[in-house]
Amino acid sequence: MHLARFPRLRLGHFPTPLEPLENLSRLLGGPAIWIKRDDATGLATGGNKTRKLEFLLADALAQQADVIITQGATQSNHVRQTIAAAAVLGLPAKVFLEQRVSGFGDEYQQSGNVLLDKLLGGEIVAHLPPGTDMQQVMEDYAATLRAQGKNPYVIPGGGSNPIGALGYVACAQELLYQSSQQRLRIDHVIHATGSTGTQAGLVAGFTATNSHIPVLGISVRAPKARQQENVWQLASRTRALLGVPGELPRSAVVVNSDYVGDGYGLPTPAMQEAVELLARHEGILLDPVYAGKGMAGLIDLVRQGQFRPQDNLVFIHTGGAAGLFGYRQALAP
Ligand SMILES: *Cc1c(COP(=O)(O)O)cnc(C)c1O
Repeated sequence: MHLARFPRLRLGHFPTPLEPLENLSRLLGGPAIWIKRDDATGLATGGNKTRKLEFLLADALAQQADVIITQGATQSNHVRQTIAAAAVLGLPAKVFLEQRVSGFGDEYQQSGNVLLDKLLGGEIVAHLPPGTDMQQVMEDYAATLRAQGKNPYVIPGGGSNPIGALGYVACAQELLYQSSQQRLRIDHVIHATGSTGTQAGLVAGFTATNSHIPVLGISVRAPKARQQENVWQLASRTRALLGVPGELPRSAVVVNSDYVGDGYGLPTPAMQEAVELLARHEGILLDPVYAGKGMAGLIDLVRQGQFRPQDNLVFIHTGGAAGLFGYRQALAP
């Protein structure tokens, strides 16, 4: 596997730190819990999309794109990081937001990531009703721009295609390097999974290097079987892009969908507890939509005794704290 043959920009601070959560580990009294600080990538409050965008926007530049198009939910961290990355390159970013969550008032609609989208100079072309075929909307819009002589580059939701997933192949390599440098045997990697690029890249990276570190995705939206299928598909396509021979075993993709609650972006008591625990005992800000639910899953599985006391768990903090401000009504009513 030779990642350096793919065009890549430098958009964030890497490697991100891999640090022990001593207070949380002590509090839960189970395995040692470590955190991979992908919230600290540095791009306009950071997050996991920065890694994907290093490859996606390099591809956009290789294709001489002159405008970037993407989409996401109202409080999308992906949209915010994409606008920031486009700003670095001096490219206009045109984005479509989906009103996937409602009932959290004006702050949800205007603050958090939406405030940053505007501050970073993104153009919110339209805010569309839930269930809209967002990929189709982007493609239609791109066709309109092409007819005007533009050369748009369309990034799918979450930046989750094989090129974007290379960002998490790079993260898998980074974790293996840190594991060896820090003399840390990693027994489990756990993170929130949504549009699948993060888990697909990690699985592709770990299987391609024969490192056999199990990755557990805590779903924030789709049921287990569907999410596993989607991750497997993208991980397989990413391995193909990398030239990894052989079929990816289904068993390499494990998703737990027990912590979604009522749906995408809807708060749960366990998410709220996880956000407060990390804030008050580690000084770390999770987010309500992804990392909060991912950590809620990790905490619950530790309490259930699903891990051995001698295990080292690595939680990937995928970012998203900017979204906290959109959820003030739910988190601090
Ligand atoms: C997008 C996102 C995720 C999920 O990553 P995918 O690659 O979409 O599965 C997790 N956490 C945060 C904060 C995100 O913004």
